[in-house]
Amino acid sequence: MALLVQKFGGTSVGTPDRMRAVADHVTRTVRRGDQVVVVISAMGKETDDLLRMAREVSNTRPGREMDMLVTAGERKATALLCMAIADLGVEAESFTGSQAGFLTDATHTNAKIIDVQPDRIRASLAAGRVPVVGGAQGQSAQRNVTFLGRGGSDTTAVALAHALGADSCELYTDVPGVFTSDPRIVTDARKMEHITFDELLEMTANGCPKPAMRSVEFARTHGVELHVRSAFTWESGTVVTKESTMEQAIVSAVVHDADEAKVTIGGVADRPGVAAHVFRALADADINVDLIVQNTSDQGVTDISFTVPHGDLDNAVAICEVAGAEVGFTRVTAEPAIARVSVVGAGMKSHPGVAATVFETLAANDINIEMIATSAIRVSCVVAESDIERAVVALHDAFGLADGPVYVD
Ligand code: ASP
Ligand code: MG
Repeated sequence: MALLVQKFGGTSVGTPDRMRAVADHVTRTVRRGDQVVVVISAMGKETDDLLRMAREVSNTRPGREMDMLVTAGERKATALLCMAIADLGVEAESFTGSQAGFLTDATHTNAKIIDVQPDRIRASLAAGRVPVVGGAQGQSAQRNVTFLGRGGSDTTAVALAHALGADSCELYTDVPGVFTSDPRIVTDARKMEHITFDELLEMTANGCPKPAMRSVEFARTHGVELHVRSAFTWESGTVVTKESTMEQAIVSAVVHDADEAKVTIGGVADRPGVAAHVFRALADADINVDLIVQNTSDQGVTDISFTVPHGDLDNAVAICEVAGAEVGFTRVTAEPAIARVSVVGAGMKSHPGVAATVFETLAANDINIEMIATSAIRVSCVVAESDIERAVVALHDAFGLADGPVYVD
């Protein structure tokens, strides 16, 4: 008998028919002899709808009330799924995040989990029931309802799997697993059977939209096995595990992020403290800076380019203009039309030549590289946004990813 956490995303429970299909799957799993804890998102686009309604009624939107509002989506879904499961002759019980023992900090709209004390979930399992937990929610020390942020249900599922010592955390979604590239762009992208936490973390940090990056980080830290799979075909998906003695693919995937914009500050004095000043100001404004490149200095001045999400571009430019006046650089330019392509693979650590192949492939396709960054298992290039789809297709092809991974020998 296994203990499984099964998490269902919004599309998976988006309609009454989908709810019944999910209830059917959960019930079958239970009848097979396994124990199941369900974590569920709000139905369909309900979270977006609630956020829109809040914007329509209020300019203030206090965080405490936003969280009370948004978590209602998941709460409704838990009750409906329990009813659908009951119809199939299995007892199910709905729980809000706070009932399920999720204690968080008080950062409304983006709370962090501090502890999970799932006593009531354990009791529900022991009584032979299926606990159904609202995703992305908890309660603060002040006993206010908190929301874990967009995509937070994945994190709820992983944290609960860890707290309960579950055998696996199954993330059911509208795609069959993790692909070697975005299948909407690369027609022969392949679903991967396995991937390591480190690789998936790099992928989600570099444009792969699912699962939520925070949940992958949590799973990696606590060694929670993940299984990303389809709630439409129910076929087996992608299993995410620690790096093992398993063969290491040199390159596993090509991901891209078009939500990138570039800022360049020019005429920067090449002396200690200038970069510190600028990036502290950006950090204080909560701007998540990604790639940073500083040029070699020429006659005591240099320039620094960095990327930010599109939504932060105007703010980043304004902050740099203020900082420029303070530390004396001469120019701030913004380039919105850029995108980043990244090649990820755990085996490249011990295998030279991946960067060379990336650059050669882009060159052969006449794609200019504007910035380059690497980690131990990733090579990223910033290119013009208009080149991004060609870059992704060419790199996927160059590393032969459609045919299956090439392993380190
Ligand atoms: N429903 C919320 C969202 O769409 C939280 C989640 O389900 O992950 O972000
Ligand atoms: Mg862009």
